[in-house]
Amino acid sequence: MANVSHELRTPLTNIRSYAETLVDSAGDLPPAMEKKFLGVILNESDRMTHIVDDLLTLSRFDSGYSQLNLTTFPFADVLEDSYQAIRIEAQRHDHTLILEGEQGLPTVRADRERVLQVIMNILSNAIKYTTDGGRIVMSAGFDPDRVWLEVTDNGIGIPPEDRERIFERFYRVDKARSRESGGTGLGLSIAKEIIRQHEGKLLLVDRPGPGTTLRMELKREGPKA
Ligand code: ADP
Repeated sequence: MANVSHELRTPLTNIRSYAETLVDSAGDLPPAMEKKFLGVILNESDRMTHIVDDLLTLSRFDSGYSQLNLTTFPFADVLEDSYQAIRIEAQRHDHTLILEGEQGLPTVRADRERVLQVIMNILSNAIKYTTDGGRIVMSAGFDPDRVWLEVTDNGIGIPPEDRERIFERFYRVDKARSRESGGTGLGLSIAKEIIRQHEGKLLLVDRPGPGTTLRMELKREGPKA
C-alpha cells in the first residue's frame, strides 16, 4: 500500500502544481508555456491510468478471478507477432532486432494473448534499457517438453545486487530512468505471474554482461490445471 500510494502521489503532485500555476497565472503565461504545462498534466494522468490498469491486472490475479484462455498454437506465431509489433519501435531507436531459431518450433498450449503480453514486456524493456543503436536478439528453442525464448540485449544491464529483485512489484533499478520511459515497475511482476500460472519459468539468465538476457520457458502441453 505504501508503494502504491507513493507511486500515485508523484504524478498527482505534479498535476496539482502545474494546474495551480495555470490557474494563478490567470492567462498571463505565454501560450507555448501553457501548452507545455497542459502536456505535462496529460502525461501524468496517462501515467496514473497506466499504473491503475497494471494494479487492476495484478489484483485480478491475486483474487484468483483471472483465468487462462488456453489454446494450442504454433509457438513461432507468437514470436513473429511480437517481432512485428515491436519492429518499428526498435527501428526508431536504431536498434538491430533479430529473431532466430523459430524454424521447426512446435505448438504450445497456452494463453496466447498473455504470452504475447509477456514477450512484449521483455522486448520493450530491452529497447528501453539499451542505448540507441543497440542489438536485441530473440532466440527460441525447444526440447521434448518445453519451448523457450531468450531475449538478449547489449544495454545498460542489471547490477548484481538488483538481479534478485527485478520481478518484485514496483522494483526499479533506476527510478528516474524508468519513469522517464513510462515504466511503472509492475511489468515484470505481471509477466512473472502470467508465466507462473502457465507452470513455466521466467528468469534472468546468469551471463556475464554487458547487457541482459531474460528467458521465458513454457511447457509444450501447457499447465495441468
Ligand atoms: P519498468 O516499468 O520500470 O520497466 P519492469 O517491471 O518491466 O518495470 O522492470 C523492472 C526493472 O528491471 C526496470 O525498472 C529495470 O530497472 C530493470 N530491467 C528490466 N529489463 C531490463 C533490461 N533489459 N535491461 C536493464 N534493466 C532492465
